[in-house]
Amino acid sequence: MGLSRILPRSQPLPERLPVEPVAETDVPAEPSAAPRLHAVPFSELAAPPEEDAMAKVIAFANQKGGVAKTTTTLNLGVALKEAGKRVLIIDLDPQGNLTMSQGMNPDVIERSMFDVLVHRVPISDVIHTVEVDIAVASIDLAGAELALSALIGRERALEKALVEVRDKYDYILLDTPPSLGLLTINAFVAADGVIVPVQCEYLSLRGLVQLENTLAMVRENLNPAVRVQGIVPTMYDGRTLHAREAIEILQENFGDLVFETRIKKTVRYAEAPVKGSSVLRYDPTGPAAQAYRDLAKEVLDGAQAREHA
Ligand code: ADP
Ligand code: MG
Repeated sequence: MGLSRILPRSQPLPERLPVEPVAETDVPAEPSAAPRLHAVPFSELAAPPEEDAMAKVIAFANQKGGVAKTTTTLNLGVALKEAGKRVLIIDLDPQGNLTMSQGMNPDVIERSMFDVLVHRVPISDVIHTVEVDIAVASIDLAGAELALSALIGRERALEKALVEVRDKYDYILLDTPPSLGLLTINAFVAADGVIVPVQCEYLSLRGLVQLENTLAMVRENLNPAVRVQGIVPTMYDGRTLHAREAIEILQENFGDLVFETRIKKTVRYAEAPVKGSSVLRYDPTGPAAQAYRDLAKEVLDGAQAREHA
Protein backbone atom coordinates (compact mmCIF):
# COMPACT_ATOMS: atom_id res chain seq x y z
CA MET A 1 0.00 0.00 0.00
CA GLY A 2 1.67 3.21 -1.14
CA LEU A 3 0.76 6.58 -2.43
CA SER A 4 2.53 6.22 -5.75
CA ARG A 5 -0.58 6.62 -7.85
CA ILE A 6 -1.58 9.76 -6.01
CA LEU A 7 1.75 11.51 -6.17
CA PRO A 8 4.75 10.58 -8.29
CA ARG A 9 7.03 10.99 -5.28
CA SER A 10 6.37 11.65 -1.63
CA GLN A 11 6.65 15.21 -0.45
CA PRO A 12 9.47 16.05 1.94
CA LEU A 13 8.51 16.60 5.52
CA PRO A 14 8.48 20.23 6.55
CA GLU A 15 11.72 20.97 8.34
CA ARG A 16 10.40 20.81 11.83
CA LEU A 17 7.23 20.92 13.77
CA PRO A 18 7.04 23.65 16.36
CA VAL A 19 8.12 21.55 19.30
CA GLU A 20 6.35 22.22 22.51
CA PRO A 21 8.58 23.99 24.99
CA VAL A 22 9.02 22.35 28.37
CA ALA A 23 5.80 23.03 30.21
CA GLU A 24 7.33 24.85 33.14
CA THR A 25 3.95 25.98 34.37
CA ASP A 26 2.93 22.38 34.92
CA VAL A 27 5.71 21.76 37.41
CA PRO A 28 4.82 23.22 40.77
CA ALA A 29 7.65 25.18 42.32
CA GLU A 30 8.70 22.99 45.22
CA PRO A 31 10.04 24.86 48.21
CA SER A 32 12.86 23.12 50.03
CA ALA A 33 10.82 22.93 53.25
CA ALA A 34 8.69 19.84 53.99
CA PRO A 35 5.57 19.72 51.82
CA ARG A 36 2.50 21.24 53.47
CA LEU A 37 0.04 19.18 51.53
CA HIS A 38 -0.56 15.48 51.75
CA ALA A 39 1.49 14.04 48.95
CA VAL A 40 -0.38 11.99 46.36
CA PRO A 41 1.88 9.39 44.77
CA PHE A 42 2.60 10.29 41.16
CA SER A 43 1.44 6.90 39.96
CA GLU A 44 -2.04 7.63 41.35
CA LEU A 45 -2.19 11.01 39.67
CA ALA A 46 -1.13 9.53 36.38
CA ALA A 47 -3.36 6.46 36.52
CA PRO A 48 -5.82 6.72 33.65
CA PRO A 49 -9.48 6.15 34.50
CA GLU A 50 -11.09 3.00 33.10
CA GLU A 51 -10.53 2.79 29.38
CA ASP A 52 -14.14 2.42 28.27
CA ALA A 53 -15.37 5.18 30.58
CA MET A 54 -13.46 7.68 28.48
CA ALA A 55 -14.68 9.32 25.31
CA LYS A 56 -13.11 8.34 22.06
CA VAL A 57 -11.90 11.54 20.44
CA ILE A 58 -12.06 11.68 16.63
CA ALA A 59 -10.81 14.59 14.53
CA PHE A 60 -12.36 15.19 11.10
CA ALA A 61 -9.65 16.70 8.97
CA ASN A 62 -8.67 17.52 5.43
CA GLN A 63 -6.88 20.76 4.60
CA LYS A 64 -9.06 21.08 1.53
CA GLY A 65 -12.24 23.08 2.09
CA GLY A 66 -15.67 21.87 0.99
CA VAL A 67 -15.04 18.13 1.32
CA ALA A 68 -17.78 17.60 3.97
CA LYS A 69 -15.77 17.77 7.21
CA THR A 70 -18.46 19.82 8.91
CA THR A 71 -21.35 17.87 7.37
CA THR A 72 -19.75 14.61 8.50
CA THR A 73 -18.96 15.82 12.03
CA LEU A 74 -22.58 16.89 12.60
CA ASN A 75 -24.42 14.04 10.90
CA LEU A 76 -22.16 11.29 12.20
CA GLY A 77 -22.47 12.87 15.67
CA VAL A 78 -26.27 12.84 15.49
CA ALA A 79 -26.25 9.28 14.11
CA LEU A 80 -24.03 8.11 16.99
CA LYS A 81 -26.44 9.76 19.42
CA GLU A 82 -29.37 7.97 17.75
CA ALA A 83 -27.41 4.77 18.38
CA GLY A 84 -27.46 5.58 22.10
CA LYS A 85 -24.05 7.18 22.51
CA ARG A 86 -23.25 10.35 24.47
CA VAL A 87 -21.81 12.75 21.90
CA LEU A 88 -20.04 16.10 22.02
CA ILE A 89 -19.12 17.88 18.78
CA ILE A 90 -16.60 20.71 18.84
CA ASP A 91 -16.34 23.53 16.30
CA LEU A 92 -12.68 24.40 15.78
CA ASP A 93 -13.21 26.31 12.53
CA PRO A 94 -13.28 30.13 12.78
CA GLN A 95 -15.87 30.09 10.02
CA GLY A 96 -18.25 28.54 12.54
CA ASN A 97 -20.12 26.39 10.02
CA LEU A 98 -20.75 23.61 12.54
CA THR A 99 -22.12 26.14 15.02
CA MET A 100 -24.35 27.61 12.30
CA SER A 101 -25.55 24.19 11.21
CA GLN A 102 -27.04 23.79 14.69
CA GLY A 103 -28.92 27.07 14.33
CA MET A 104 -26.55 29.43 16.20
CA ASN A 105 -24.88 32.57 14.92
CA PRO A 106 -21.09 32.62 15.49
CA ASP A 107 -21.09 36.43 15.13
CA VAL A 108 -23.07 36.96 18.33
CA ILE A 109 -21.69 34.17 20.47
CA GLU A 110 -19.91 35.63 23.49
CA ARG A 111 -17.82 32.78 24.72
CA SER A 112 -16.45 30.15 22.41
CA MET A 113 -13.63 27.69 21.84
CA PHE A 114 -11.36 30.73 21.53
CA ASP A 115 -11.81 31.41 25.25
CA VAL A 116 -11.36 27.73 26.04
CA LEU A 117 -8.10 27.42 24.11
CA VAL A 118 -6.58 30.82 24.83
CA HIS A 119 -8.03 31.87 28.21
CA ARG A 120 -8.54 28.38 29.63
CA VAL A 121 -12.25 28.92 30.22
CA PRO A 122 -13.76 25.50 31.13
CA ILE A 123 -15.14 23.87 27.98
CA SER A 124 -18.44 23.20 29.76
CA ASP A 125 -19.03 26.99 29.67
CA VAL A 126 -19.23 26.96 25.85
CA ILE A 127 -21.24 23.76 25.38
CA HIS A 128 -24.81 24.21 24.15
CA THR A 129 -27.27 21.34 23.92
CA VAL A 130 -29.03 21.20 20.57
CA GLU A 131 -29.42 17.90 18.64
CA VAL A 132 -26.18 16.88 20.31
CA ASP A 133 -23.96 18.79 22.71
CA ILE A 134 -21.85 21.30 20.79
CA ALA A 135 -18.89 23.43 21.90
CA VAL A 136 -19.29 26.51 19.74
CA ALA A 137 -16.99 28.66 17.63
CA SER A 138 -17.17 32.40 17.25
CA ILE A 139 -15.47 34.77 14.87
CA ASP A 140 -12.77 35.31 17.57
CA LEU A 141 -11.42 31.88 16.79
CA ALA A 142 -9.74 33.39 13.74
CA GLY A 143 -7.25 34.98 16.18
CA ALA A 144 -6.66 31.78 18.12
CA GLU A 145 -3.68 30.54 16.08
CA LEU A 146 -1.82 33.79 16.68
CA ALA A 147 -2.79 34.03 20.36
CA LEU A 148 -1.91 30.37 20.96
CA SER A 149 1.44 30.61 19.22
CA ALA A 150 2.79 32.71 22.08
CA LEU A 151 1.65 30.28 24.79
CA ILE A 152 3.56 27.48 26.41
CA GLY A 153 1.85 24.20 25.59
CA ARG A 154 0.18 25.73 22.56
CA GLU A 155 -0.29 22.36 20.84
CA ARG A 156 -1.90 20.84 23.92
CA ALA A 157 -4.51 23.47 24.76
CA LEU A 158 -7.40 21.37 23.43
CA GLU A 159 -6.13 18.14 24.96
CA LYS A 160 -6.04 19.87 28.36
CA ALA A 161 -9.50 21.38 27.88
CA LEU A 162 -10.99 17.96 27.13
CA VAL A 163 -9.85 16.42 30.43
CA GLU A 164 -12.92 18.00 32.08
CA VAL A 165 -15.40 16.23 29.78
CA ARG A 166 -13.72 13.03 28.60
CA ASP A 167 -15.62 10.89 31.07
CA LYS A 168 -18.98 12.51 30.28
CA TYR A 169 -19.15 11.41 26.64
CA ASP A 170 -18.65 8.28 24.56
CA TYR A 171 -17.59 10.21 21.45
CA ILE A 172 -16.05 13.66 21.08
CA LEU A 173 -15.92 14.74 17.42
CA LEU A 174 -13.67 17.62 16.36
CA ASP A 175 -14.49 19.67 13.25
CA THR A 176 -11.31 21.32 11.98
CA PRO A 177 -10.59 24.24 9.65
CA PRO A 178 -9.35 23.75 6.08
CA SER A 179 -5.67 24.09 6.98
CA LEU A 180 -2.99 22.15 8.83
CA GLY A 181 -2.31 25.02 11.25
CA LEU A 182 -2.25 25.13 15.04
CA LEU A 183 -5.99 24.53 15.49
CA THR A 184 -5.82 21.32 13.44
CA ILE A 185 -2.60 20.30 15.22
CA ASN A 186 -4.40 20.79 18.55
CA ALA A 187 -7.10 18.45 17.24
CA PHE A 188 -4.50 15.82 16.20
CA VAL A 189 -2.82 16.04 19.61
CA ALA A 190 -6.14 15.59 21.45
CA ALA A 191 -7.46 12.84 19.15
CA ASP A 192 -7.33 9.08 19.31
CA GLY A 193 -8.06 8.84 15.61
CA VAL A 194 -8.56 10.95 12.50
CA ILE A 195 -11.34 10.44 9.98
CA VAL A 196 -10.64 12.05 6.62
CA PRO A 197 -13.60 13.00 4.45
CA VAL A 198 -12.50 12.97 0.82
CA GLN A 199 -14.39 14.23 -2.17
CA CYS A 200 -14.43 11.57 -4.87
CA GLU A 201 -12.19 13.46 -7.29
CA TYR A 202 -8.63 12.73 -8.30
CA LEU A 203 -7.30 16.15 -7.39
CA SER A 204 -8.81 15.92 -3.91
CA LEU A 205 -6.91 12.71 -3.25
CA ARG A 206 -3.50 14.30 -3.68
CA GLY A 207 -3.80 16.43 -0.54
CA LEU A 208 -3.90 13.28 1.57
CA VAL A 209 -0.13 12.94 1.32
CA GLN A 210 0.41 16.28 3.03
CA LEU A 211 -2.11 15.39 5.70
CA GLU A 212 -0.31 12.12 6.39
CA ASN A 213 3.02 13.96 6.65
CA THR A 214 1.59 16.36 9.23
CA LEU A 215 0.11 13.48 11.16
CA ALA A 216 3.47 11.71 11.11
CA MET A 217 5.08 14.78 12.67
CA VAL A 218 2.43 14.92 15.36
CA ARG A 219 3.02 11.22 16.08
CA GLU A 220 6.74 11.80 16.36
CA ASN A 221 6.60 14.87 18.58
CA LEU A 222 3.30 15.14 20.39
CA ASN A 223 0.86 12.20 20.22
CA PRO A 224 2.40 8.84 19.32
CA ALA A 225 -1.01 7.12 19.27
CA VAL A 226 -2.88 9.19 16.70
CA ARG A 227 -3.70 7.42 13.43
CA VAL A 228 -5.90 7.78 10.39
CA GLN A 229 -8.89 5.73 11.50
CA GLY A 230 -10.77 5.87 8.25
CA ILE A 231 -11.38 7.66 4.99
CA VAL A 232 -14.95 8.61 4.04
CA PRO A 233 -15.66 9.08 0.34
CA THR A 234 -18.08 12.01 0.11
CA MET A 235 -20.13 13.70 -2.62
CA TYR A 236 -20.06 10.43 -4.51
CA ASP A 237 -21.85 10.28 -7.83
CA GLY A 238 -21.77 6.67 -8.93
CA ARG A 239 -23.02 7.58 -12.41
CA THR A 240 -19.65 9.11 -13.32
CA LEU A 241 -16.67 6.98 -14.23
CA HIS A 242 -14.42 9.56 -12.57
CA ALA A 243 -16.01 9.07 -9.13
CA ARG A 244 -15.76 5.29 -9.43
CA GLU A 245 -12.10 5.58 -10.43
CA ALA A 246 -11.41 7.90 -7.51
CA ILE A 247 -12.77 5.24 -5.14
CA GLU A 248 -10.57 2.62 -6.81
CA ILE A 249 -7.48 4.79 -6.35
CA LEU A 250 -8.41 5.37 -2.72
CA GLN A 251 -8.80 1.65 -2.12
CA GLU A 252 -5.55 0.80 -3.88
CA ASN A 253 -3.68 3.27 -1.69
CA PHE A 254 -5.47 2.96 1.62
CA GLY A 255 -7.04 -0.50 1.48
CA ASP A 256 -9.57 -1.19 4.17
CA LEU A 257 -9.06 2.23 5.76
CA VAL A 258 -11.66 3.35 3.22
CA PHE A 259 -15.11 3.06 4.78
CA GLU A 260 -17.63 0.92 2.89
CA THR A 261 -20.21 3.69 3.20
CA ARG A 262 -20.14 6.19 0.36
CA ILE A 263 -21.80 9.52 1.09
CA LYS A 264 -23.67 10.30 -2.12
CA LYS A 265 -24.02 13.72 -3.64
CA THR A 266 -27.39 15.22 -2.76
CA VAL A 267 -28.71 18.68 -2.08
CA ARG A 268 -30.27 17.43 1.20
CA TYR A 269 -26.92 18.00 2.94
CA ALA A 270 -26.93 21.65 1.91
CA GLU A 271 -30.61 22.14 2.73
CA ALA A 272 -30.50 20.82 6.30
CA PRO A 273 -28.08 23.43 7.77
CA VAL A 274 -30.32 26.24 6.49
CA LYS A 275 -32.89 24.90 8.96
CA GLY A 276 -30.24 24.64 11.68
CA SER A 277 -30.60 20.90 11.50
CA SER A 278 -28.78 17.68 10.77
CA VAL A 279 -30.04 15.70 7.81
CA LEU A 280 -31.20 13.05 10.28
CA ARG A 281 -33.72 15.50 11.73
CA TYR A 282 -34.43 17.32 8.44
CA ASP A 283 -35.23 14.20 6.43
CA PRO A 284 -35.12 11.30 8.89
CA THR A 285 -36.28 8.57 6.53
CA GLY A 286 -34.30 9.67 3.46
CA PRO A 287 -31.18 8.02 2.03
CA ALA A 288 -28.95 10.97 3.08
CA ALA A 289 -29.73 10.31 6.75
CA GLN A 290 -29.35 6.57 6.28
CA ALA A 291 -25.86 7.05 4.82
CA TYR A 292 -24.63 8.60 8.06
CA ARG A 293 -26.37 5.89 10.10
CA ASP A 294 -24.46 3.34 8.04
CA LEU A 295 -21.22 5.23 8.66
CA ALA A 296 -21.99 5.36 12.39
CA LYS A 297 -22.45 1.61 12.39
CA GLU A 298 -19.06 1.15 10.74
CA VAL A 299 -17.43 3.44 13.28
CA LEU A 300 -19.11 1.59 16.15
CA ASP A 301 -18.15 -1.79 14.77
CA GLY A 302 -14.58 -0.58 14.77
CA ALA A 303 -14.18 -2.14 11.33
CA GLN A 304 -11.92 0.69 10.33
CA ALA A 305 -9.86 0.90 13.49
CA ARG A 306 -6.86 -0.61 11.79
CA GLU A 307 -3.56 1.03 11.69
CA HIS A 308 -2.38 2.58 8.45
CA ALA A 309 1.30 1.82 8.15
P1 ADP B 1 -15.99 21.36 4.81
O1 ADP B 1 -16.36 21.42 6.26
O2 ADP B 1 -15.02 20.28 4.49
O3 ADP B 1 -15.56 22.68 4.27
P2 ADP B 1 -18.85 21.16 4.36
O4 ADP B 1 -19.31 20.04 5.24
O5 ADP B 1 -19.11 22.54 4.85
O6 ADP B 1 -17.32 20.96 3.98
O7 ADP B 1 -19.51 20.94 2.92
C1 ADP B 1 -19.29 21.88 1.88
C2 ADP B 1 -20.61 22.10 1.14
O8 ADP B 1 -21.01 20.91 0.49
C3 ADP B 1 -21.75 22.47 2.05
O9 ADP B 1 -22.59 23.38 1.40
C4 ADP B 1 -22.48 21.16 2.28
O10 ADP B 1 -23.84 21.35 2.56
C5 ADP B 1 -22.28 20.48 0.94
N1 ADP B 1 -22.24 19.02 1.05
C6 ADP B 1 -21.69 18.28 2.03
N2 ADP B 1 -21.82 16.96 1.79
C7 ADP B 1 -22.46 16.87 0.60
C8 ADP B 1 -22.89 15.76 -0.22
N3 ADP B 1 -22.69 14.49 0.14
N4 ADP B 1 -23.53 16.05 -1.37
C9 ADP B 1 -23.74 17.32 -1.76
N5 ADP B 1 -23.36 18.40 -1.04
C10 ADP B 1 -22.72 18.18 0.12
MG1 MG C 1 -16.13 22.98 7.58
